[in-house]
Amino acid sequence: MAKITSIHARQILDSRATPTVEVTISLDTNINAVASCPSGASVSIHEALELRDNNRSVYGGKGVLQAVENVNEVIGPSLIGKDPSYQNELDLLMNKLDGTENKTKLGANAILPVSLALARVSAQEQKIPLYKYLRNLTSHNDSYEQPISAFNILNGGMHAGGNIDFQEFMILPTTKIFPKALEQAVTIYTQLKKLLHENSFSNLLGDEGGFAPNFSKNTEALDYLLLAIKKAGYVFQKDVEIGMDVAASSFYDDGIYNLKSESKKITPEELLVFYKSIYEKYPLRYFEDPFYEEDFDSFAKITKTLPASCVIIGDDIISTNSTLLQKAINAKAITGVIIKVNQIGTVTETLQVIELAKKNNIKTIISHRSGETTDDFIADLAIAVNSDFTKFGAPARGERVVKYNRLLEIYSELHKA
Ligand code: PEP
Ligand code: MG
Repeated sequence: MAKITSIHARQILDSRATPTVEVTISLDTNINAVASCPSGASVSIHEALELRDNNRSVYGGKGVLQAVENVNEVIGPSLIGKDPSYQNELDLLMNKLDGTENKTKLGANAILPVSLALARVSAQEQKIPLYKYLRNLTSHNDSYEQPISAFNILNGGMHAGGNIDFQEFMILPTTKIFPKALEQAVTIYTQLKKLLHENSFSNLLGDEGGFAPNFSKNTEALDYLLLAIKKAGYVFQKDVEIGMDVAASSFYDDGIYNLKSESKKITPEELLVFYKSIYEKYPLRYFEDPFYEEDFDSFAKITKTLPASCVIIGDDIISTNSTLLQKAINAKAITGVIIKVNQIGTVTETLQVIELAKKNNIKTIISHRSGETTDDFIADLAIAVNSDFTKFGAPARGERVVKYNRLLEIYSELHKA
């Protein structure tokens, strides 16, 4: 039995030049593993707390030195000497040390990188790939299934400096042969860049590596997706489907949705009518966060209204939280759920939410955050749990590409024979 000999946290930067926490765990068998914490921009009110120093004179208040100290001074001393493969027990112990419902004392950004590093170091200790190790933490033993990757190639909302309200416009190659899906995504991405240039739009990038042109309205982005798919030589819906994360909470205030680019201030009912008209013209496969993060009723309405082929996905409204997921299941509010490890803060709780979703036929989407590091843990997680989709951003920028490159590596390992 290997034992933890040290747990050391440091402050590093994420892809948005914002501090985050990186943790190294060492074992008495001379094995070390490192993991780090991502960070969102369109953050839900229900998420576990991301602890920031709030000292405005350092990194504009965004430093995470308190979270680092919480790992080094509180979590570390309690875990040293323990077997790292007791994932459930150690995650539970960290939650106990924190003692709050939303990890407000120690911070999810302190607890999560430790939890991720525990899994990674244990996999290394057992000399098995991380996805296999994570699979062993679940009760499932079925064959590995390749998720469909949703590539976010046009960025808007809080992830871009332009004027479109909706946050993400995605392409979803239908093939389950991942290397082919990735190549198709890159071909479409390249065509889109060309198309934007030809039409005098900027091809600078948003936070998730997609282009961030100043379109005049939201549906213009969907037009460009379809055009790029066609120009790349693919057939819409047969080869490639499309999706959106509108991140509706980011343009919601007091019962009203303010669509600046459309000059519309509308009610949930009017927004539903707008979505229906969008769906008729652009049949989406994937539709995330259509309404405000507390509006289960409107989610249920759109789930009932649009065909089942369009997965209605809860991100902010669930926040990778079992209680909220159960509430959404009871309300028939969603058919898919976003899984973001830092919304809940431990591997154990993440796997519990995925299990609950699977038991209720809710599709699972393993997702990055808009602020990422080069940690590729979530690629292994997606394969481990046979997630239905992944959402790792555009096939560009190091912090996104590292996840796709890991999916490539796993794919070739699983298809060696
Ligand atoms: C999202 O909303 O799905 C997302 C990835 O963005 P963020 O990380 O900013 O919440
Ligand atoms: Mg989202």
